[in-house]
Amino acid sequence: MTVITNHLPTEDLQALDAAHHMHPFTAGGELAGKGARVITRASGVFLTDSDGNEILDGMAGLWCVNIGYGRDELAEAAARQMRELPYYNTFFQTTHVPAIALAAKLAELAPGDLNHVFFAGSGSEANDTNIRMVRHYWSVKGKPRKNIIISRENAYHGSTMGGASLGGMVPMHEQGSLPIPDIHHIPQPDWWAEGGDMSPEEFGIARARELERAILELGEDRVAAFIAEPVQGAGGVIVAPDSYWPEIQRICDKYEILLIADEVICGFGRTGNWFGSQTLGIRPHIMSIAKGLSSGYAPIGGSMVCDEVAEVIARGEFNHGYTYSGHPVAAAVALENLRILEEEKVIDHVRDVAAPHLRAAWEGLADHPLVGEARIVGMMGSIALTPDKAARARFAAGAGTVGLICRERCFANDLVMRHVGDRMVISPPLVITPAEIDELVARARKALDETLDAVT
Ligand code: PLP
Repeated sequence: MTVITNHLPTEDLQALDAAHHMHPFTAGGELAGKGARVITRASGVFLTDSDGNEILDGMAGLWCVNIGYGRDELAEAAARQMRELPYYNTFFQTTHVPAIALAAKLAELAPGDLNHVFFAGSGSEANDTNIRMVRHYWSVKGKPRKNIIISRENAYHGSTMGGASLGGMVPMHEQGSLPIPDIHHIPQPDWWAEGGDMSPEEFGIARARELERAILELGEDRVAAFIAEPVQGAGGVIVAPDSYWPEIQRICDKYEILLIADEVICGFGRTGNWFGSQTLGIRPHIMSIAKGLSSGYAPIGGSMVCDEVAEVIARGEFNHGYTYSGHPVAAAVALENLRILEEEKVIDHVRDVAAPHLRAAWEGLADHPLVGEARIVGMMGSIALTPDKAARARFAAGAGTVGLICRERCFANDLVMRHVGDRMVISPPLVITPAEIDELVARARKALDETLDAVT
């Protein structure tokens, strides 16, 4: 049998990969042509590929490696826990120390009375839990018809049947007969693309009132919950106008709708606070968490739940759970990650050093001829590419064509920056230094220059 290691030539690894490995969100043809980039190692904010290139990871993996790569403490925590208790479940009135300790730590960190956590293996699973939990909650309260969940177009809430249904991504809905029943989508608060002649503040109110309109149309007695990311991430780092969230909060309070903040990206320091809800002044009943919970070192997610919802759910048996709910190794890794975030004051570093430095550098890109707007909240930012800034116009070549060219130019310049249509997004590790931020933005500007050359 051939032993497959880092030492095989890149072309051999790529050929085996193309032959046997089915990739998420990748068109088959793309791989057959040039092969996937093979990442072999990582340290801090840099990845190394199988050809020895050092790549600055402007995306922290998939928005998740908050403490950066290569922290031995997490490897040690995993090894220790694997030796002591590699697995046990949390079903049927059993528990174990890592799950207890992580749940208690999360209750301490979460805002308000979000004192309870239902563990999952990922953000998608957390959102599937949320669908079942809010429907069950209203049913226990004698309102089984209050089961519709309102979400937003262009939202991303995961890839399972439930998560993708909550999400508002049309290409995902087109595959697999989605959404599942009783999920309703309202328009997103993307002023730059959809605001027309309104001011951002007027538009923010108008888009929040779409929620009220939907509740009145569907019936207050039918709507269980509203779910949203504090800042839409995978949709292109869409930052709602300031007027949006206070109006959403007012509407949820008025009509007794549970508010679910999907903190899978925004949580654990990304926006400059422990949770995006704190940055944006949101008071959720439930928060979905994953990604930065373990900085991506182990797969773990969960739903943080407020006292009242948890009390109602605990009245009977909630017939729900995953084999890996509260997995001891993943929980031990997450605890170690939270210890590092806390003891090394990573969130203070974001607030006082990294985010202000990144904001200044990132917003400076707005002077580039291709850039229509540059938005940033904490350590997640985006730029909208446009052929005409004043008109906020789209490219004639079709949505995403220029974004794809720019992503390729970033790759060629050893920078990972993702494209969402014609928006370029970044979400680097939170521990990035000012000098590394300058390098990131310099590489982004070079990629933008090369993209401009390619399209003019
Ligand atoms: N929710 C949000 C806001 C996300 O960004 C993601 C993933 O990007 C998910 C949920 C799904 O998380 P996972 O990929 O861990 O299932």
